[in-house]
Amino acid sequence: MRHPKVSDCVDVFDSLWPPALAESWDTVGLAVGDPDAEVRSILLALDPMDAVIAEAVVLEADLVFNHHPLMLKPVKSVNAATLKGGAVHTLISNDIALFNAHTNADSARGGVSDVLISLLGITDSQPLTPHVSGPAPDPELASTGIGRVGDLPAPTAVRDLARQLSQKLPRTTTGVRIAGDPAAMVTRVAVCGGAGDSLFDAVRSHGAEVYVTADLRHHPATEALDTANRREGGLELIDVSHWASETVWLAAAADALEAEFAARGFTVSLQHSAVNTDPWVERF
Ligand SMILES: [Zn+2]
Repeated sequence: MRHPKVSDCVDVFDSLWPPALAESWDTVGLAVGDPDAEVRSILLALDPMDAVIAEAVVLEADLVFNHHPLMLKPVKSVNAATLKGGAVHTLISNDIALFNAHTNADSARGGVSDVLISLLGITDSQPLTPHVSGPAPDPELASTGIGRVGDLPAPTAVRDLARQLSQKLPRTTTGVRIAGDPAAMVTRVAVCGGAGDSLFDAVRSHGAEVYVTADLRHHPATEALDTANRREGGLELIDVSHWASETVWLAAAADALEAEFAARGFTVSLQHSAVNTDPWVERF
């Protein structure tokens, strides 16, 4: 067994989370690194915060695999005195590559929303907004897309679903919150890992009775609960921590990576970051 190069790692990542699945506004792929460098260990994390990069330095990781991009928007300088430039400098001076799979990992089968909906015992689901792969649809990418919708085996109270999620997701300061009727009995569940309040139309058009997502803001939430909208069929909301909704995917990602590296004859150590990048630390 040999160690992969950075370029081999990129091939493995792209086979699991094809970059063609990323949203047009997104930034995915290798952000920092020499494709020819050898990779003995990979650190998996959600956010490329400086604490995560410092952890990679201490652990002597050769590559940091992230969900969120370091440079979502173009940067014009990597001056070490700036936030992004400082991160790039630290990475390069310690020979650490940085790669991220973001909306392509949300969209892919086995991705963020698949893992989230499976926590509720739903294994048969479809995307809320299917990925459109152009005039000649790629069969490999069929059944991919943002969010998931599926049916529970039996009608369940929203309160019980929220409780179930609070037990299966890592504990967070903001916890799990319900908007709407906690006692409503629901079967059809929509989920979107991370911030999902732009998907209400898709959630409604799929006939979902409850929507599980993160970062729900006041106005989209109150509009979703408005009586006019509820006349067309009630929609209850469960809001979870953005970090929690996505961090559960990292374990599934590590399993998929381990299998794929082994299948290609590579040996590489995979570690999960111990840094909790959920920004909220206390509530009163
Ligand atoms: Zn996210």
